Amino acid sequence: MRTFNTFIPNNRTLMGPGPSDVSPQVLNALARPTLGHLDPQFIELMDETKALLQYVFKTENQLTMPISAPGSAGMEACIVNLVEPGEKVIVCQNGVFGGRMKENVERAGAEAIVVTAQWGEPNSLESIEAALHAHPDAKFVGFVHAETSTGVRNDAQAICALAKQHDCMTIVDAVTSLAGIELRVDDWQIDAIYSGSQKCLSCVPGLSPVSFSDKALHKIQHRKTPVQSWFLDLNLIVGYWGQGGKRAYHHTAPVNSLYALHESLRLVHEEGLENSWHRHAAMHELLKTGLTELGLELLVAPESRLPQLNTVVIPDGVDDALVRNRLLNEFNLEIGAGLGALAGKVWRIGLMGHAATTKNIDFCLSSLRTVLR
Ligand SMILES: *Cc1c(COP(=O)(O)O)cnc(C)c1O
Repeated sequence: MRTFNTFIPNNRTLMGPGPSDVSPQVLNALARPTLGHLDPQFIELMDETKALLQYVFKTENQLTMPISAPGSAGMEACIVNLVEPGEKVIVCQNGVFGGRMKENVERAGAEAIVVTAQWGEPNSLESIEAALHAHPDAKFVGFVHAETSTGVRNDAQAICALAKQHDCMTIVDAVTSLAGIELRVDDWQIDAIYSGSQKCLSCVPGLSPVSFSDKALHKIQHRKTPVQSWFLDLNLIVGYWGQGGKRAYHHTAPVNSLYALHESLRLVHEEGLENSWHRHAAMHELLKTGLTELGLELLVAPESRLPQLNTVVIPDGVDDALVRNRLLNEFNLEIGAGLGALAGKVWRIGLMGHAATTKNIDFCLSSLRTVLR
């Protein structure tokens, strides 16, 4: 008879593109007794989670909640609910995740007008404006705020302002940006936004916070065609996540994961959202100084660098996989490989949430120094 042992993972330090280190407080929350998903005590937790999500998104949007699936499902939820077949969506693509947005738009039966930028650079406002002029019938502009595949920050505030001038709604990927850099859903007039639990929120993977403006909600409620996805149809989900006492069963919420999300959001609230932004920026400066001392360079220009995702150019003659494997096997340290066009050319060092500490940075730099020697 084959035997199976309890799985005990190694204690890694996660400094890649996500998941990031999960704090012991969040892991403890996960281990608490499971409640029924319509238990009044659980409903209270849902209401608090919603209030905390409104806090981190800086929004008063009523339709703010976590989708019971990872960031990719949040992306799909935004697109299949808002975009109807035949509509035009301007999609900004400067890395892997913008490409996925295009794919989602096309699978929803809509037309994607793709505006590209070089990998490692932000989307230019001029090229987005040109697309808006060329396609006055476009209804949406979609873009990635923090492109995790390249380490580039797009100017979300400016892109949203431009989209509004052309009467377009905005769909924003904030999977890596939420809690890591400045993000203001209401001030910047974002209509639909999705994030992920496992990046700068430092929660376990598998949940996708989303938020929709009243204008977006109105569009969803007045579609000509039903949402193609039953599971992600917000018209049905609001019956479960909606305000007030009456909640109807839609699907069984991932109860314990939601305890973890609540705790991770509570920790951001305790630190203060702005303090969390500042900590990510300060830790990035520290890492950058150390990398420079090791003779390593960052790919992205300073003005569009993401503090929480540092793309490091692999020096000539250095074996990419060998370095990452040694970091993992000898130091229990995970850093990310390059994706797509940047595979083999860069490493991606994440400073996300609970992982963005001086202790981790010292550890990462000293491990890299040993391995590169
Ligand atoms: C990680 C990530 C996603 C996908 O999130 P999953 O939780 O892996 O599905 C989407 N967009 C960006 C920018 C990401 O970094």
